[in-house]
Amino acid sequence: MATYRGRFAPSPTGPLHAGSLVAALASWLDARAHGGTWLVRIEDVDTPRCVPGADALILQQLATCGLVSDEPVRWQSDQGTRYRPSLDHLAGTGRAYPCGCSRRDIETALQAQGVARERHHAAIYPGTCRPDRGGLQGKPARAWRFDVAGEPPVHWTDRRLGPQVQDVAAEVGDFVLLRADGLWAYQLAVVVDDADQGITHVVRGEDLADNTARQILLQRALGLPTPHYLHAPLVLGANGEKLSKQNGAQALDLADPLAALRQAAAALGLPDARESHVPAAALALWTAAWPT
Ligand code: GLU
Repeated sequence: MATYRGRFAPSPTGPLHAGSLVAALASWLDARAHGGTWLVRIEDVDTPRCVPGADALILQQLATCGLVSDEPVRWQSDQGTRYRPSLDHLAGTGRAYPCGCSRRDIETALQAQGVARERHHAAIYPGTCRPDRGGLQGKPARAWRFDVAGEPPVHWTDRRLGPQVQDVAAEVGDFVLLRADGLWAYQLAVVVDDADQGITHVVRGEDLADNTARQILLQRALGLPTPHYLHAPLVLGANGEKLSKQNGAQALDLADPLAALRQAAAALGLPDARESHVPAAALALWTAAWPT
C-alpha cells in the first residue's frame, strides 16, 4: 500500500517503558510491512502531565532501538492554533457547546438524578448545559463539549480485536474538546493531527481502544476520514496491571537494545528472532498475522 502512513504518538509524561516500546515497535513494524511511512508525534497538549525533557529522552530511546521518524517529529504544542478551527466548525454546526459546570456541579446533578456511580468510573455528563436544556443560563463557559445525544452505537473493526461497538451517548456522554483549564483535550487533538498528517493506520496500545468510537464520531462530524485501527497487546506488570508511567513502570533498560526489541517482539506474539535482526525477521511474520 503506497499511501500507508502510520504513527507512534507518545505523551512525554516520562521515558518509554517496556509497554510503550511494544506499541512503538508494533506501529513501526506495521508501517514497514506495508512499505509505508512511520511518523513520531509528541502528544504534549496536556502540559501539566508533561515532564520536561521526556520528549527528548523518548526520541533518544526510540533512536537507540533504530526507530526513527521518517518525517520531522511533530510536537502537538506547536499546533495549538490549528485545533481552534475544528472546534469552531463543530460549534458552527451545532455539534459542540460551551459548558459552565464544575466537577462538583456535575456530581450534584448526577446525585439529583439518582445516578449512583462506582468510584473510579468517569462521570457521564448529565447534559446540564446542553443547548436544548437552556445552555449556560448565565454561567461563564468553562469547557467545550461534543454533543453525542442521539448518536447510534458506533461500530468499527479492529484489525486485532475484531468487531467492536460502543454506545458513546450511553457509555461516555458529551465529552470534552476544550478543557476548563484552556487546554485542548486529547480526543480533539489526536483526531485533528491524525487527519492533518494523513494517517491511514493507527497502531497503538490496547488501553486506548476505548477512545476509538469517540474519535470516529469526531472524524465524521469534521468530515475527516477514519483510519484503520489495530490495538496491540499490553505488557502487564508483576501485579497483573498494565504497565504505565503512572504506576511507576521502570524506564526501559536500553543497554542492550536488541534484547529490549526481542522482548517487545515477544509481547506481540512474534517468535524469537535471536539469529537475525529482529525487525527484519519480524516483518514477514507481522504481515501474515495482521493483514490490513
Ligand atoms: N498520546 C497517547 C498516549 O501516549 C497515545 C495517543 C494515540 O496513540 O492515539 O497514551
